[in-house]
Amino acid sequence: MKFQIKSIAAAIAFAACSMVHAEELPSVEVLEKVAKEAYAKYKDDQGGKNADYIPALAKVPSELFGVVIVTKNGDVIKVGDVDTPFSIQSCSKVFTMALVMQESGDEVIYDKVNVEPTGEAFNSIQAIEEGDGRADNPFVNAGAIATVSLIKADTAEQRWDKIIKIYEKFAGSQLEVLEDIYTSEAETNFRNRGIAAVLYNSNNLFAEPLMTTDVYTKQCSVGVNAEQLAVMGGTLANDGVNPVTKEKVIDAEHVPKVLSVMMMNGFYDGSGRWAWNAGVPAKTGVGGGIIAVVPNQMAIVGFSPPLDEQGNSVRAQKAIEYIVNALGLSVFGSGK
Ligand code: GLU
Repeated sequence: MKFQIKSIAAAIAFAACSMVHAEELPSVEVLEKVAKEAYAKYKDDQGGKNADYIPALAKVPSELFGVVIVTKNGDVIKVGDVDTPFSIQSCSKVFTMALVMQESGDEVIYDKVNVEPTGEAFNSIQAIEEGDGRADNPFVNAGAIATVSLIKADTAEQRWDKIIKIYEKFAGSQLEVLEDIYTSEAETNFRNRGIAAVLYNSNNLFAEPLMTTDVYTKQCSVGVNAEQLAVMGGTLANDGVNPVTKEKVIDAEHVPKVLSVMMMNGFYDGSGRWAWNAGVPAKTGVGGGIIAVVPNQMAIVGFSPPLDEQGNSVRAQKAIEYIVNALGLSVFGSGK
């Protein structure tokens, strides 16, 4: 009898546990419907403008717009300009952070970079000076450069090789640097070089500053299309296993930490507004990409070059917000 009661209790506990983790994935048909609605609704939105502080970004056609969803089962739903390569820019910061966590553990990021929002612009120097000298979080430029410096490597080539290899595993396809973007940013990235120097001066950068900034600039210039970026996010939604190739890229234990940094810092000083409006971990890039992850379910990517004042794609954020709210996907509850 005692044994029976114990087994029933265990069965109930197991069922409760599975309920918590088995959020029901909307069907592919439903996902297709909302993705198409989001695309149609914001295709002609004229808000924002291309980044131009990196001159080559100003030349990317502003009308480009694509939406892709990749589920943890490997289903791919796509609408619009999903095959055009664009520079990954700051969406890359998520995956370099994941590389460092996988290589050296989560605590290295927490201790040496920190995970706090700055409330300042993405390229703020003031934010470093106001804090304890650390870079604040891995998604502002300071923190992303510091994260690159934490990769275990003896040479710039080794450092780069580790970055591109893990990005390719996340994406499940071969990726190339967009040379025009890289050249343009490398010729104009004086502010980032300054940030690296400030960090190095206070022992908060862990490799040679100019080399580190150059590797960082290259990582930002990696070309991805919206589908590849969505598979990268799908890998995070699937506990670190690429849902299309089925290859394990990082250990599952790192995923909640990666997503927490995305939730708190993914939209720079617009992160609070994003949590309010959409409520899912996400990361933006000045190339016009936004990658959002619904934990244990799917990634949603929007791509369109015109940006708002905080440097976040206008059409992409509206499209993702639309999909998340239509399906009640906020991590804070469906509101239904
Ligand atoms: N490469 C860009 C920079 O360093 C990234 C900024 C962004 O995408 O937000 O300024």
